[in-house]
Amino acid sequence: MIEARGLTKTFGRTMAVEDLSFTVRPGGVTGFLGPNGAGKSTTMRMLLGLDNPTRGEALINGRPYRQLDRPLTQVGALLDANWIHPNRSARAHLRYLAASNRIPARRVDEVLETVGLTAVARRAAGKFSLGMKQRLGLAGALLGDPKVLLFDEPVNGLDPEGIFWVRNFMKSLAAEGRTVLVSSHLLSEMALTADHLIVIGRGRMIAEASTADFIARS
Ligand code: ADP
Ligand code: ADP
Repeated sequence: MIEARGLTKTFGRTMAVEDLSFTVRPGGVTGFLGPNGAGKSTTMRMLLGLDNPTRGEALINGRPYRQLDRPLTQVGALLDANWIHPNRSARAHLRYLAASNRIPARRVDEVLETVGLTAVARRAAGKFSLGMKQRLGLAGALLGDPKVLLFDEPVNGLDPEGIFWVRNFMKSLAAEGRTVLVSSHLLSEMALTADHLIVIGRGRMIAEASTADFIARS
């Protein structure tokens, strides 16, 4: 489960996230929709323990990220592809992540297969296309077989084929009973991906509804 309770973040005078409260439950993809600068990344970063809330709580399975035992077994995330070491091979990158979370090494080959990177597993990730980097990021997110997944603008910059693949991949993860939260600034994309929407603007909650209801009303 993913939960925000009165979640607030200020950067100097900028109110990036203001008193946000929501719960994301399993069974379906939940879209986190809002224009650029609305506070989506900041919210996800707080959920992942990469930023501290100014006020309120960001919880995964009832706890702040930093209190999670073996976090990658509880939550996986795709924030951006930049954290991949350019000189490390895809397999070495995943082995390193696995080792640091006491995840069995055999999972590395399983997730490479899941995202379709087995054939290029020995190549340096720095030479990967954006679509391949996204797949490697997804492999990392799945390594610990977490029930909770957070994806920040995962289709940005991808070609149509890549977008189609990532979209269906997220749906299949939700169909397995995982809790999936995916951010986007495009209603048109979320209409094709999400069952449920949490809509924010300027850091504040605007709506929470099924995607069908939200579109019927807007
Ligand atoms: P989104 O992901 O919806 O595009 P962000 O969470 O990235 O929005 O940004 C929300 C607001 O917070 C924006 O006004 C942005 O400029 C500001 N912001 C985000 N990160 C920082 C930071 N590290 N320092 C200062 N301002 C920031
Ligand atoms: P490096 O390869 O430089 O040692 P890491 O692989 O540890 O760096 O990752 C860099 C950042 O990305 C860290 O903040 C880490 O928490 C985050 N990160 C890496 N993989 C994941 C993942 N699968 N899910 C969530 N966060 C991740």
